[in-house]
Amino acid sequence: MYDVIVIGGGPAGLQAALTIGRMHRSVLLLDSGEYRNATVEHAHNLLTNDGRDPAELRRIARDELAAYPDVEVRAAAVTAVSGSLGAFEVSTGEATERAARLVLATGMRDELPAVPGLAEQWGRRVAQCPFCHGHEFAGRRIGILIEGEHAAMIERMLRPVVASAYLARPADVVAVTDAGDGLQLQLADGSVEQVAGIFTAATSTQRAPFAVQLGCRLLPSGGVEIDGLGRTTVPGVYAAGDMAHTPAVPGPMVSLAAAIAAGQLAGASAVRDAIMP
Ligand SMILES: Cc1cc2nc3c(=O)[nH]c(=O)nc-3n(C[C@H](O)[C@H](O)[C@H](O)COP(=O)(O)OP(=O)(O)OC[C@H]3O[C@@H](n4cnc5c(N)ncnc54)[C@H](O)[C@@H]3O)c2cc1C
Repeated sequence: MYDVIVIGGGPAGLQAALTIGRMHRSVLLLDSGEYRNATVEHAHNLLTNDGRDPAELRRIARDELAAYPDVEVRAAAVTAVSGSLGAFEVSTGEATERAARLVLATGMRDELPAVPGLAEQWGRRVAQCPFCHGHEFAGRRIGILIEGEHAAMIERMLRPVVASAYLARPADVVAVTDAGDGLQLQLADGSVEQVAGIFTAATSTQRAPFAVQLGCRLLPSGGVEIDGLGRTTVPGVYAAGDMAHTPAVPGPMVSLAAAIAAGQLAGASAVRDAIMP
């Protein structure tokens, strides 16, 4: 019986485990190793680690966790979760573990527009977040393959950063190909555009079904509803990272820094709530 089981070993879950372990509460972190930014070689906008490989960040975090005897990290995919406050059960293929509380940090899954070649460049020359990857295209021409008003917003946001932007609907692009120092867009009308990189919009859904299975309320964005302390609507269940946000904002702040902060909050709340009358 653990004090807390953390499901998910991205930045949110790793930080939650660190916070709980430092308070000498037993915590098991289960991680299936399917990271949202798996294709990224350089993550940006993270103080003291700007430009670091996210895999390296996770490795350092796991090394740090190893120093805490109350923290156990296991590479395992959770297949089922059940129970309630004080008596949750978490099953992997091989074992069923029990905990008083749960922190869900299972992240989101992205589906890209169906443009051939786009997925191969995801996280490298194709990105979604201007804060994470805009500066890398400074002074160069970019493509924006996004439907609707969101395209104009991204263009306005990046205007001081890039030289110019070519806007197109994903449906108008036949293929994206590597052009050495950039990308080539092949358009349905036969023309070709050269850009340094592309911003697009993925459709994001919960990577794991556990929040829904436990009865946690979802927000219109598809995110799990949490309060200002990382608590879901189900007692004893906390959520952190890209998968959750408060109703005060339209969606999660998708970033490593925000996921780390949310993981810390959820972990601290799980410790704090356990001693509250
Ligand atoms: C292409 C791309 C580039 C990005 N670049 C940047 C950047 O430069 N800077 C920045 O700040 N942010 C960047 N981000 C955003 C950043 O990666 C996310 O905000 C961050 O990873 C969210 O962390 P998380 O812990 O919530 O989720 P994740 O990192 O997705 O981790 C979720 C974890 O849950 C685990 N999991 C899921 N299901 C199960 C299960 N059934 N059993 C056990 N474990 C499970 C997964 O294996 C994974 O370890 C980028 C995102 C993308 C997609």
